[in-house]
Amino acid sequence: METTETRTEVQPIDCSHYINGTYVTSNNGKNFENVNPATEEVLGVVAEGGKEDVDQAVRVARKALKGEWGNMPLRQRSAIIRKVGDLILERKDELAALESLDTGKPIWLSKKVDIDRAAYNFHFFADYMTSIGTESYQQDDIAIHYAVRRPVGVVGLINPWNLPLLLMTWKLAPALAAGNTVVMKPSEVTPMTATVLAQICSDAGVPDGVVNMVHGFGETGAAITSHDDVDAIAFTGETVTGSTIMKAAAPTLKKLSFELGGKNPNIIFADADLDDVIETTLKSSFINQGEVCLCGSRIYVERPIYDEFLEKFAERAKELKVGDPFDPETKVGALVSEEHYRKVLSYLDIAKEEGGNFLIGGKVAEGLDKGFFVEPTIITGLENDSRCVSEEIFGPVVTVTPFDTEEEVMHQVNDTHYGLSSSLWTSNIKRATRLSAQIEAGMVWVNTWFLRDLRTPFGGMKHSGIGREGGAHSFDFYSELTNVTVKL
Ligand code: NAD
Repeated sequence: METTETRTEVQPIDCSHYINGTYVTSNNGKNFENVNPATEEVLGVVAEGGKEDVDQAVRVARKALKGEWGNMPLRQRSAIIRKVGDLILERKDELAALESLDTGKPIWLSKKVDIDRAAYNFHFFADYMTSIGTESYQQDDIAIHYAVRRPVGVVGLINPWNLPLLLMTWKLAPALAAGNTVVMKPSEVTPMTATVLAQICSDAGVPDGVVNMVHGFGETGAAITSHDDVDAIAFTGETVTGSTIMKAAAPTLKKLSFELGGKNPNIIFADADLDDVIETTLKSSFINQGEVCLCGSRIYVERPIYDEFLEKFAERAKELKVGDPFDPETKVGALVSEEHYRKVLSYLDIAKEEGGNFLIGGKVAEGLDKGFFVEPTIITGLENDSRCVSEEIFGPVVTVTPFDTEEEVMHQVNDTHYGLSSSLWTSNIKRATRLSAQIEAGMVWVNTWFLRDLRTPFGGMKHSGIGREGGAHSFDFYSELTNVTVKL
């Protein structure tokens, strides 16, 4: 395979921390290597933050709360936030290339989804912040009560590797819009675009000390979550990490927002438009190598169309080109790291042990001697409580199970600790509304998938999260409300 470096003009970058408007190395001088998952070549080095770096970033962020940022008129702050979005779009090609080098995802996807949405996160909240109000009540002729909104304070933003810039900006934009200062920690696996984002914020006029970033592994994240001068943590990542963070944050009673793992059902009734189902299910199964928390990796199909669905779905999935993220024809790129690749492959072994049939895939992609590529895989014949149906694999692997009745499928759908999202395919509107209310998930898509309006509540129930992001929900998390009562 041609190396990605020959397919993009953009050079990978070394990643330093960003504290008080300056890129800095770690106090302990430690670095680690950042590896391109499509070529296994080293992209550069990343500073490995320790407690001292986190302390420094938190101190600076605390100070900046009281400075220019805390006293800036709303419209001025909104203009700066809008400008961050503009600058992301201006640097779209560079950011998309860095995202694909880091994650292994196809370049067209980085441009179309990751970078465009990152810019839109800032544009959306720049507008939203100028219109959001608070409650007020008149209590007869006794009193007027009104709520005053203020920032939470210093917020730790901790993110995973699957949609690095999209998810970081999904937290950073509302945190800034609500007037907070932040310490970001990108995933150790994908540190490059966040590193550029810090400079973009500064170029847009965000004062020094407002946006800080410390790179590193879980220990660095833990130094943020346990820090007694951090007021809130917005975390996206694995369920088990969320649980660890909750314990670490308990002694200092931090406000927490958790977007965690999922094992989302895709429920297909026989009266659905099958062509539409197939095209959307290809995306909800394999886009971003299946490394999207919202992917519908448990597919349930009503028995009368089960065979036809499998035949058509497998036929289309076989056509998906796996390979070089910088080839415009590529639909499925590399998995993000060797560690994750080994995890996904281990689930393919588990599926075999559990008696699953591989309709397609089930192995390392052929003809690619370097990089972490796995073929799109469709597995049938597994029980609902088997590990491959019930655990999050987070790769290009789906299971398909037939069902006969609504009751049966609803039981299977809800028989899980997860509750992030779901898709429901039917032309029967009564059934759609009835079942949408029964599905235990934070989001139900009816006859579609991944369609978003940033004003709507986003998040999961059960072990998939705590709280919601989006519009007023994000604003409420990143604000504190003080109720004022004026006696008349
Ligand atoms: P992860 O939990 O391993 O890591 C996420 C981040 O947490 C990284 O920055 C990591 O360094 C940091 N971290 C690890 N241990 C920590 C600790 N003890 N204290 C503080 N920080 C710590 O997750 P991942 O493997 O990077 O991402 C994949 C997971 O993210 C999947 O489970 C996926 O479903 C989930 N995800 C959820 C959503 C959502 O919106 N619900 C979106 C994207 C990804």
